[in-house]
Amino acid sequence: MKFLCVECDQQMAFGERQLPGDGTLAATFKCPKCGRVVAMLTNPMETQLVSSLGVEIGGRTVPAQPFEMIDTMTPPPGPSWSTDAQERLGRVPNFVRGMVKKIYADYAKERRITESTPAGMDTARAELGLEGM
Ligand SMILES: [Zn+2]
Repeated sequence: MKFLCVECDQQMAFGERQLPGDGTLAATFKCPKCGRVVAMLTNPMETQLVSSLGVEIGGRTVPAQPFEMIDTMTPPPGPSWSTDAQERLGRVPNFVRGMVKKIYADYAKERRITESTPAGMDTARAELGLEGM
């Protein structure tokens, strides 16, 4: 993560960072040329995200935050996945796989389907209008 001073086209230097302890994170960056200062403030969720991505701010990794918030968001276990369905899911690009899996899992749960299969995924896809997933 870098900040650029648009006017000077200079990379801003890291100024200071504060971790108030409530999960928020504040950091300032200063343009070495014109002295302009920008501040970045993240809320606890964003701080968590930045931490879990291992992004370094000011040359040091943000200390990991407790994962309680994430845990409470974990949905109850959904349907099991047949080997075929797992293989198919494995072909879904990484960054959307969780979302796609959740869509199919929610679909299956609503219909009390206990196992996701490629056939079931086809049905869900057609019904939900998710062509291409
Ligand atoms: Zn500047």
